[in-house]
Amino acid sequence: MPSGNQHIEVHGQAVRTADALRTTIVALALLTGHAAVAQAPFDPSVAETVETVRITASGQRFVPRQSLTPGGAPKHTADYDVTVTWNPGGWLAREEWQLNTVFPVVTGFAYSMTYGELTGIKDGQDNFRAALDGPTPLTAARIGANFKDLWLTNPLILAAHSEASLPPVEFESGGNARHRIALSAHDTEWTLVIDPATGLPEAVTVMEQDPTNGEGPNRVVFSDWREVSGVPFPFQVEQFLNGGLLRREMRSVIEVNPDNADSVLAVPDDLEPGDAAQRHWGWSMSNLLLARAGLGGPADTPQFDNVDLLEVGPDIYQVIGGSHHGLVVVGPDGIAVADAPWYPERSDTLLRLLEERWPELTVRYIVMTHHHLDHSGGFRSFVEAGATLVAHQDSVWFYEEALARAGSRGLNAVAVDGEAQLDGIGRSIGVYDIPNPHSDGMVGVYVPDTRLFFNSDLYSPGRELQFPLSMNALFAAVRYHGLDVERHVGSHGMGYDSEPE
Ligand SMILES: [Zn+2]
Repeated sequence: MPSGNQHIEVHGQAVRTADALRTTIVALALLTGHAAVAQAPFDPSVAETVETVRITASGQRFVPRQSLTPGGAPKHTADYDVTVTWNPGGWLAREEWQLNTVFPVVTGFAYSMTYGELTGIKDGQDNFRAALDGPTPLTAARIGANFKDLWLTNPLILAAHSEASLPPVEFESGGNARHRIALSAHDTEWTLVIDPATGLPEAVTVMEQDPTNGEGPNRVVFSDWREVSGVPFPFQVEQFLNGGLLRREMRSVIEVNPDNADSVLAVPDDLEPGDAAQRHWGWSMSNLLLARAGLGGPADTPQFDNVDLLEVGPDIYQVIGGSHHGLVVVGPDGIAVADAPWYPERSDTLLRLLEERWPELTVRYIVMTHHHLDHSGGFRSFVEAGATLVAHQDSVWFYEEALARAGSRGLNAVAVDGEAQLDGIGRSIGVYDIPNPHSDGMVGVYVPDTRLFFNSDLYSPGRELQFPLSMNALFAAVRYHGLDVERHVGSHGMGYDSEPE
């Protein structure tokens, strides 16, 4: 551990960031009367000896926005073992994963990723949808998310590579004095909280894109600091998005400048360079990309423009093109949409498409089948365009809160209590609740003239992967509500099918 050296050296010229920080913090401590208390300066310069670091860890992944209940405890999605070799100055890394998922599929994956600043490959099996066909290019978005996470979870290395910092600000936390330091590094602002007794970071926070709420704090908390080759490292790491648990990690072995680093960090040189804008996008919402990777369903490419309509009935369309689908029902007096996957950009594309195709009709309703981010992250676009939100009565508050956080105006909502009928489309549309094991506050959409029912995550016609318990819950709800369904359409899968025998 760094010692509590109170001696201040006065530098007569420009000094390195780390030295400047240390000097300022100690000076601040003297000025504010804390000098009598044993204090250690924050000294990230010790991390400048780290050319490469190898971290072996095990942990657990969680997704706050795929909780069972709206606003409920983050969903535990996987346990993992990982070994990361990272050359921060060279922008090179290799990660070797054993990811054992428990949600949505109970299974295990082994895969590796080797990447540089804009190119990389993955190899092995990293998702429950399809096997990788040998080494596969890693997307620029995922590379951005991965690098962001490496900086975020290694705060001394982050600070040692920072470009600028503001003077530390002292504040109280739980009755203890703390120092807050704002760092600028890699075109991003990071806030460190330092414990003045140890001079070590307790937490790093960075603001990230959070599709539902607009923006939110991605916060990593550090403990169990131990020295490795003279450099302190946190051996316990906990990560939160908007206060919701994302990850818990315990590091078992950390090596500084391991022998074979260069050979494991060799990225094939025949790869097409990735798109810098997509890398930036992945960097800006690393929380989402890594949460998805952590449930075996990586979403490493922006799904902004790949929106298409597949006819599944007269004037009824499945919204396809991406990994998660929706439904459009067109009536003589208006349009109803079900589900808004991922983020507002995707919804904006659908709204433009509808406007072009049916310029005289407005989208009157956006039905949210359930609150999970992958199906609802784009809901704000529809509400902001004037649509009435339709959701289970237990989840309307959830969308209201998200709108308030994102700074949007009030919400017109239909709260579904058992069932609701949507007026104003010129066509009968019903919305019905579906008690089920996947998500609380779930509803589906029924169009009686076509005997078509749209559900999310329960039954996916046209897809091999099904979840029998969820299917049974859907069919039980259909029978309970007395609906005559001929065509089931899902938010996954393609087209429609009847209830299987
Ligand atoms: Zn879901």
